Amino acid sequence: MNIQGNVVLKPGRDKNLRQFHPWVFSGAIDESRSKLADVPPGGLVDVRDSSGEFVARGYYNPHSQIRIRALTWDQNDAIGPAWWRVRIAHAVAARESLAQRGDVTAYRLVNAENDGLPGLIVDRYADFLVIQALTYGVEAAKEGIVEALAGLLKPAGIVERSDVDTRQKEGLSEAVGVLWGDPPPNPLEVVEFGVRYPVDVYAGHKTGFYLDQRDSRRWLLDCSGLAGAEVLNAFSYTGSFGVCAALRGAQRIVNIDSSQPALGVARQAMALNGLDRVAAEYIAADVFQQLRLYRDEGREFDVVILDPPKFAHSQGQLDRALRGYKDINLLAFQILRPGGLLVTFSCSGLVDPDLFQKVVFGASVDAERQAQVVGWLGQPEDHPTLLSFPEGRYLKGLVCRAARY
Ligand code: SAH
Repeated sequence: MNIQGNVVLKPGRDKNLRQFHPWVFSGAIDESRSKLADVPPGGLVDVRDSSGEFVARGYYNPHSQIRIRALTWDQNDAIGPAWWRVRIAHAVAARESLAQRGDVTAYRLVNAENDGLPGLIVDRYADFLVIQALTYGVEAAKEGIVEALAGLLKPAGIVERSDVDTRQKEGLSEAVGVLWGDPPPNPLEVVEFGVRYPVDVYAGHKTGFYLDQRDSRRWLLDCSGLAGAEVLNAFSYTGSFGVCAALRGAQRIVNIDSSQPALGVARQAMALNGLDRVAAEYIAADVFQQLRLYRDEGREFDVVILDPPKFAHSQGQLDRALRGYKDINLLAFQILRPGGLLVTFSCSGLVDPDLFQKVVFGASVDAERQAQVVGWLGQPEDHPTLLSFPEGRYLKGLVCRAARY
């Protein structure tokens, strides 16, 4: 594709980009010296510093506050279908160790910015691929991307799940459908460490499943503290943590989620793994209210898992989000048996691990409980984050053991 415009940055505003942060915000651009009149959304531009020196090349979108997402820092790089194919091939090669395992059939192949492919998500679910085009630039290159994926991975079919809020900020509407090959069955069954999960790739959260929680599921499958345990799986979605806990010997699983359909899938997931006989409850309720109810009833658990949705979407929501995290963690400490485990997550990128630990500490103090940090959980290897892009890191999980004293 030809370079369709030129962006000149204001003095001093090239530093982040030079350090390989892939985003250029509107405020950094010197509009009077830039040539952008003929650039369509998703078109290619060169970005220069205030002295006119080339810094990076990327795609442009006048509708987004993130005006440019950089694709290359090499002036000789021609961006076109062949370039996308090579970058995708590199990302796929980095997942080779997962691909070679026979017992994991669902994982992320392309993690957008963090794989040098801003705006593009590609996930593998057994024989099928699911893609998300989060930006205009990816939308513009979509045909070539689909061809490259079909050629490289030879899937049975490729589905698009571009039904995300962020498309609006790009000036794009939502898009869901089969882009190539056969439509996947619904549910589509995937395997992870030998555990079977039913996935709805057409309407399930994200691209169908919380692939980013694989290491946490692995941790549960290995956790000796689960034998005979009563486990509260709050914000359970389709119950994958409950399945792992049950397989590790938990005696009772209580899944709570506000979504009745998700709980229905959780029930299927238990059955698919031969766990019908494990005592399980599927509670369609608000976690905050249900935990308060358990506290007031004096009901206790050996393990409490909290995996809420993202509470902080912007800096302005941070205080409220922190109060939310504090509330649920306080309630969790109040219903945790002495010696019990709290496995608590936050997927808000704006809440870094230190801050999250402070919030959980505050909750323990209010609950008048002492607790140990047993370990941290987080994004698995197929969700890498660029050193130059702290925004890529969002998921953290803190495992605490409540003291017996
Ligand atoms: N642990 C899950 C993912 C959880 S996603 C997994 O690994 O698959 C967060 C879930 O919280 C969603 O299923 C959503 O329906 C649910 N949810 C959001 N707010 C809620 C609330 N206030 N009470 C109960 N469930 C809620």
